[in-house]
Amino acid sequence: MLLGQKRILVTGGAGFLGTHRCRRLLGQGHEILCVDNFSTGTRRNIEELLDNPLFELLRHNVTFPLFVEVDEIYNLACPASPIHYQFDPVQTTKTSVSGAINMLDLAKRLKIRILQASTSEVYGDPIVHPQPEDYWGNVNPISSHDEGKRCAETLFFDYYRQHKMSIKVARIFNTYGLNMRPDDGRVVSNFICQALLGEDLTVFGGGGQTRSFCYVTDLIDGLDRLMNSPENITGPINIGNPGEFTIRELAEKVIAITGSKSKIVDRPLPEDDPKQRQPNIELAEKLLGWRPSINLDEGLKRTVTYFEALLRAHGKPMIGDKRYQSATSTCLPLTHIG
Ligand code: NAD
Ligand code: UDP
Repeated sequence: MLLGQKRILVTGGAGFLGTHRCRRLLGQGHEILCVDNFSTGTRRNIEELLDNPLFELLRHNVTFPLFVEVDEIYNLACPASPIHYQFDPVQTTKTSVSGAINMLDLAKRLKIRILQASTSEVYGDPIVHPQPEDYWGNVNPISSHDEGKRCAETLFFDYYRQHKMSIKVARIFNTYGLNMRPDDGRVVSNFICQALLGEDLTVFGGGGQTRSFCYVTDLIDGLDRLMNSPENITGPINIGNPGEFTIRELAEKVIAITGSKSKIVDRPLPEDDPKQRQPNIELAEKLLGWRPSINLDEGLKRTVTYFEALLRAHGKPMIGDKRYQSATSTCLPLTHIG
């Protein structure tokens, strides 16, 4: 290995954020061991990395112990979209909790640094707004995803306190961008695909709830800075874009950017859906010198371009296509695109 080059384990490396994490690290000259069980990630996401001699792929479920030799770990494995983490909630909790224990044990044995991809979901349906890191949250204790991620944070700090380990905990807020799956179920991918395909945009619960959307390259910058920050900076630290929008505003922006004639339709609000969410990023600004640089309009334009190319490559008739008017039956369902 060259001087300064590390061998870095990325769990969940074939997922949305994992793919971006692997690519950026490869670009920095590091070797990557990508571990994934492909439950929500796809081989397509990492296909073009497979020929790179610095990239290695291991199909493995992090709920089982892992014995490998690496210099650093990003623990990203966990489904992030509600439709995916609710599909097999027991496995979701096992991934968060047993996965954290297995990766922490690996980091402990190797005496290496480990970063946890935690989430704004640890704040639940927040009463304090915007959310600072010292807010303890308002979480339904029988919601598997939120409590699993909270327990994973606790484990990271228990290993830190008990075993003096080098840990970093990032609380990631809603992130979007290239390499999202069209059938992922998250709001940005849903709205863009619906608009491009001329379908109704499904706004849940009236769309008055708010979210703050971070473009993926900004998020990866934040993770880079946190991982490479001084030993005493452990987090938890919010990484997200503080620009706050209602879901209805997001739908209107997507319609405007795509030039779609799609309508907005109302659908029931899912259980435990937070009413508002906005990160307080003062800590990230102060400790990491980080703040996002890509606003929602710019990020949406880039993401629309990505989905247009993806849907077209899979034979989906889109608004603006001549064949759009007539074709409906020959196209692939979105679930076949991954
Ligand atoms: P994703 O679903 O696209 O990726 C998760 C990856 O983990 C997938 O490739 C999946 O196959 C893999 N995985 C799941 N369970 C596994 C297991 N048991 N063993 C091995 N691999 C497993 O999600 P994402 O958006 O890339 O999120 C990555 C991480 O970031 C997650 O931990 C998520 O909680 C966190 N996060 C993401 C967001 C966001 O907006 N994207 C927001 C908050 C937190
Ligand atoms: N949402 C929506 N329509 C969709 C998908 C999601 O209105 O087709 C809403 C969802 O109810 C939530 C917000 O958009 O209020 C963000 O949902 P997402 O699943 O992307 O992220 P999370 O709820 O985890 O923040």
